[in-house]
Amino acid sequence: MSLASPNPDYIYSEELGQADEPELAPIICVACGKEIEWGEEPYPVRCYACHEPIDLPSQMAFSRGSDAFAEGQELLFFVSPKRRRRSITTPEEMEGLHYYMQAYSSLQLALQGKVADQQFQQAAQMMAAMANVFLQHGSVSPLESAYWGSLVKESNTHKEWIEVGEKISAVKPGAFTWLKRLRWRLRKHQLKKALIDLDQKITKLERYMKFAEQSSFRRKKTLF
Ligand SMILES: [Zn+2]
Repeated sequence: MSLASPNPDYIYSEELGQADEPELAPIICVACGKEIEWGEEPYPVRCYACHEPIDLPSQMAFSRGSDAFAEGQELLFFVSPKRRRRSITTPEEMEGLHYYMQAYSSLQLALQGKVADQQFQQAAQMMAAMANVFLQHGSVSPLESAYWGSLVKESNTHKEWIEVGEKISAVKPGAFTWLKRLRWRLRKHQLKKALIDLDQKITKLERYMKFAEQSSFRRKKTLF
């Protein structure tokens, strides 16, 4: 298409249609990791690649939640933390918080069902970011905010723990690699200790949060 003669349909779909309604994040198969676009209804109930059933309500809740999070983030991005603490809020901030509240409940719903590991990590990061903002408004407890922060930390630490383990097994033992392997072993040991500490912290936080009828969202990590 030439720039001199813009097609009105093109302008509508690119400039307005897609900007107003961004595409939903794809479904991710929990069993094999395949990404599946939502497409038209009826939505797929089984993975095209491995034929395992898809938890559609959780996948939909994840996609809607991450969409609302992105909308809220865009509106709240320009609000400085100093202004955010004030009780009087601008219409943009109110709208941004409204999106965040939608995202917060959608993602909680998603995490109660089956989502892929990468979706879990992303959801925990979004929850931690939102809980931080809600904490400034006094709408979540410091415990709840600490809980999501700890889940993100646990998830990142576990990821690094696996990566370091892979590095150790990929390098052949020898005179030139022993120092590298030693460093990685020490790092792996540190990470394992951090994971044990985090496990205790999260278990404690969950115990406190059960009083507020909050269920557990975490995934158990296998360390041994
Ligand atoms: Zn699959």
